[in-house]
Amino acid sequence: MSELQRKRELGRGERVVAGLWRLRLPLPWAGIPHCNAWAFAAGSGVVLVDCGMHQPGSMANLERALDQVHLRLDNVRRLVITHAHSDHWGQAAPVRERAGCEMWMHPNHAHATANAGDPAAVLARRLEVGRQSGVSLATLQEYHDRHKNDVSGIARVIEPDASLTDGVTIDSDLGPWQVFETPGHCPSHVCLFQPEHRILISGDHVLGRISLFLEYGWSPDPVGEFLSSLDVVDALDARLALSGHGKPFTDVHAHIEGNRKLVAAKLEAIGERVQREPQTALSLAREIYDQPIVDGNAAWLLTETLCFLTHLEAQGFVRRESDGDVDHWHAT
Ligand SMILES: [Zn+2]
Ligand SMILES: [Zn+2]
Repeated sequence: MSELQRKRELGRGERVVAGLWRLRLPLPWAGIPHCNAWAFAAGSGVVLVDCGMHQPGSMANLERALDQVHLRLDNVRRLVITHAHSDHWGQAAPVRERAGCEMWMHPNHAHATANAGDPAAVLARRLEVGRQSGVSLATLQEYHDRHKNDVSGIARVIEPDASLTDGVTIDSDLGPWQVFETPGHCPSHVCLFQPEHRILISGDHVLGRISLFLEYGWSPDPVGEFLSSLDVVDALDARLALSGHGKPFTDVHAHIEGNRKLVAAKLEAIGERVQREPQTALSLAREIYDQPIVDGNAAWLLTETLCFLTHLEAQGFVRRESDGDVDHWHAT
């Protein structure tokens, strides 16, 4: 392993502005090398926003990142979670225990917590999505065999001590942070905004790299929710966004607009193809993405395609017909 690779795999901390720090925590995922947690000064301690995935060495990485900005877990007075994905929330239980603090999160976290202790159920759900999308049984069996020992990245499911919903504020030395519910990426997603400094902690709702990820099956219309949530954060007029992955970025409006355009382009591409002839989610995903569908991206891209189709269905542009196994999508 090269020195560079080794460095990438360690937690790192850096100051963003006085009283606000970025904690960069490694992830085991190809293409997503790390996630960000954030700490901000609040009276005698700090508020920690997100805490990273639970995996071998993950607590040491969080402590190392904190140590680099002269903080310790003991300083954490409250743990605030942008959303219940394992990379942001996975080690909430041990962090809460070690710091002796409360954990605050949005109540719609069943998408992560319902099956967190049951990886087989998570995999079964994923295979069911594949089956409905038109993936062959042989491919599904291969997928099952490769993923049957996947781990959740979640140390233990704990209920939040308080709900992060619209109107909640979190005090800090920079001033209060306002909570905004921003479902779409997943139902439990919130963003935090500090209005005097115009800083947005955007979680995975708006990332520095324009890319989508939408959780399917836990709410009626994830794409519609995502678009509404883009309007919510656009109205804040943030100057700096601190996202769940990648570096802090400015020009927040342009990033939001980029997401809207990406969604519109995918909806249009799907609409056109369904107009021509009935489609499965798999046949559409093969055409609307400029990357082949492979093991590493299949669940994500099929899920996203189904979210787009569900949105078009909600708007009355397409309808689904099941042959018992596979859903075929028709123009209305
Ligand atoms: Zn996420
Ligand atoms: Zn994430």
